[in-house]
Amino acid sequence: MAPELPLTPPEPRQRGFCAWCGHEIYEGNDIFTGAGQMVHRGCMGPMACEMLDPAELAALCGYREELA
Ligand SMILES: [Zn+2]
Repeated sequence: MAPELPLTPPEPRQRGFCAWCGHEIYEGNDIFTGAGQMVHRGCMGPMACEMLDPAELAALCGYREELA
C-alpha cells in the first residue's frame, strides 16, 4: 500500500507581485528579475515589446530594418 499523501499540499509562498501583470509571484515560479522588480517569464515578452523599439527587438532576433 502506498504511503498516504497529505490531503493538502503546502501553500506556495508568495514572493511578490509581477511588475508587468500585477499578479502574484510564488516560490518556484519562473521569473526574471531586474531593476529591483520581478516579472513572470511569460510577461517578459509583452513587457519587452512595450519597452523596446521595434528595431531593437529585431536586432535581438538577428533582423535589421530596411526598405523592401
Ligand atoms: Zn506577470
